[in-house]
Amino acid sequence: MKVDLVQPYGYCQGVIQAIEKAKMARQQYPSTPITILGMLVHNEHVLNDLKSLQIESVYDENKDLSTLLKEIPQGIVIFTAHGHDARLEEQAKNQGLQIIDATCPRVKANHLAILRALKEGKQAIFIGKKGHPETIATLSLSSSIFFYDIHDGFLSSTIPNNNTPTVIFNQTTLSILELQKIYEKLRKNECFSFMIQDEICAATRLRQEALLHLKEIPEAILIVGDPRSNNTEALRKIALEHYPKTIVYKICDVSDLEPHMTQFSSIALVSGASTPNEITEAIYHYLMQKAEKKS
Ligand code: SF4
Repeated sequence: MKVDLVQPYGYCQGVIQAIEKAKMARQQYPSTPITILGMLVHNEHVLNDLKSLQIESVYDENKDLSTLLKEIPQGIVIFTAHGHDARLEEQAKNQGLQIIDATCPRVKANHLAILRALKEGKQAIFIGKKGHPETIATLSLSSSIFFYDIHDGFLSSTIPNNNTPTVIFNQTTLSILELQKIYEKLRKNECFSFMIQDEICAATRLRQEALLHLKEIPEAILIVGDPRSNNTEALRKIALEHYPKTIVYKICDVSDLEPHMTQFSSIALVSGASTPNEITEAIYHYLMQKAEKKS
């Protein structure tokens, strides 16, 4: 069995920075309660690691962030890498909480670009996944942003008009193939023209391009990442679309490996930007051991 550990793998800079901020806060304030509002990054292993440092995470699909924030009684609140509604900072201050902002600089730069376009009198369309924290944070910038959901299209009752310059922005972790298809659809079906400000971040793009340009077509592709991670889900979609004859699995860690997943002649191992290196490397070493035993 040949195992190709596809590069790059491991955390992106945004995730590294968010984790560092949380750990530094614990060092600096050893006895202050620290709570992360939402998931710092979409990976259960990361959250458990932080929990071992008494850094709690609060998340609940059925509650919005404002409601969850109300439930934090004291101490420090950390805002996640995905960005957040600025009004939450006001709320946190009013509750007497200390704030640490772990928003990824790439997400912040995108927000500034959207605000600049709006200030210049342009229409802004944001393509993203409904309910994703980055989408919620971005749409909170202005009620005049038109939202295009990757599955359901425009969700607002109005669509941009053709008399005003229009710029399309997007969530940083979408699939580049999916995004191209949405651009094509908008070009064909909608009655407005637009400019594209491609905002797929470098970490997401590099991982997706590496997957698109594998040296050989493998018999199986293993995508390593948390089920809630959007950048990992984008990798899965790309693998399915670009390698239709290849079997694609998505797994969280080595415990998800089933015997039949190790029976292929060639495997490409691909990991998302929020997946810890150790998890990917543990899977790689496990597969290599299996390969050595067979040879
Ligand atoms: Fe930032 Fe990209 Fe990492 Fe998201 S995936 S945290 S946008 S670098």
